[in-house]
Amino acid sequence: MNTNRCSIWVFGDYRNYFQNRVTLQLLSKANDLAPKLAAEVCAVLFGHDLDEYVYEYIAHGARKIYVVEHPCLKNYSIEKYTDLMVRLALDYQPEAILVGATSFGKEFAPRVAKRLGTGLTADCIGLEITEKGQLLQIAPSFGGNLVAEIITPKQRPQMATVRPGVFQEIPHDNQLRGEVVRIPIPENLPDDRVRLIAYERQEQREQRIEEATVVVCGGRGMGSRKKFKKLFDLAELLSAEVGGTRPVVYAGWLDSDALVGQAGKHVKPQILLSFGISGAIQHTAAISDADFIIAVNKNPNATMMKMADVAVVADANQLCTALIKGLKERIQTR
Ligand SMILES: Cc1cc2nc3c(=O)[nH]c(=O)nc-3n(C[C@H](O)[C@H](O)[C@H](O)COP(=O)(O)OP(=O)(O)OC[C@H]3O[C@@H](n4cnc5c(N)ncnc54)[C@H](O)[C@@H]3O)c2cc1C
Repeated sequence: MNTNRCSIWVFGDYRNYFQNRVTLQLLSKANDLAPKLAAEVCAVLFGHDLDEYVYEYIAHGARKIYVVEHPCLKNYSIEKYTDLMVRLALDYQPEAILVGATSFGKEFAPRVAKRLGTGLTADCIGLEITEKGQLLQIAPSFGGNLVAEIITPKQRPQMATVRPGVFQEIPHDNQLRGEVVRIPIPENLPDDRVRLIAYERQEQREQRIEEATVVVCGGRGMGSRKKFKKLFDLAELLSAEVGGTRPVVYAGWLDSDALVGQAGKHVKPQILLSFGISGAIQHTAAISDADFIIAVNKNPNATMMKMADVAVVADANQLCTALIKGLKERIQTR
């Protein structure tokens, strides 16, 4: 079955397609890496009625798509999807498999790696090819205090999960062409151990924090849930998205999907406003791509203040209130 052509595979996580762009981001990165290995970029897609996604992935850089379609694959099934991926990987022997670090990807990729007896680097924030042609998997480690460069020297495929928002997708191009390999569903797929009763879609924010041009980020220094809420008012006036640090998520001031940092989202806005954040590495690792940072902190020596382009020594809550007032006045006098 193996065609002996070196290939980089991207697992097609198409749930909530318009919000979840990580598969497209991985296809783009795979296209960056592929020439260094003379590899072919492939997507692997399981489900039912998949044509829409097949053509989307081709238009975003997949040169070949392995598709297994069947009504029993309509809902994401960890048992069936793992089994299928393992079978395909054994048959076609890809050089690398990239999976988005979504909630499903984080559950799926380690199972596949274990069954294939290979390594997996979770939550990568970078991927490169070494001089020896190995996949260099760059990921925070030791609680985010170090960024580790990991290789899988012997086992294949080399596997990594990558956080959403780390790479830029290639713009949709209808002129791109790809080969579609339809694989019949095997007869003896495992049964699901979890029975799906219903799907309920969580309401999405208008814009995703990973893609926002302006991000307002708040930390423990905002002081309370009530004060933190002001950041949403400010964000609305600035057409921005609100993110925050782990303590504010733990305190329930902010939804966990807006956590910025090693355990959350990577942001790359043109402007980042940071209120009452100390600047721990687990947070700052995920804002290093921000073009311009304005930090507000009462402690001028906070790390966040040192990495900011503009550092304002002030009470975060008071400054936020003043900014809201000033912006509202400006809007009214226009
Ligand atoms: C494995 C692991 C993963 C982690 N992942 C993440 C992650 O993904 N994201 C993340 O954010 N953290 C993460 N953390 C936690 C991280 O180490 C820090 O604890 C956290 O980022 C600190 O958040 P903070 O800046 O809001 O709070 P603090 O560190 O408590 O800082 C509060 C800041 O507010 C300032 N301040 C206080 N009062 C005021 C005021 N009135 N006005 C202005 N400034 C004020 C203080 O001077 C201080 O600088 C992780 C930790 C571990 C161990």
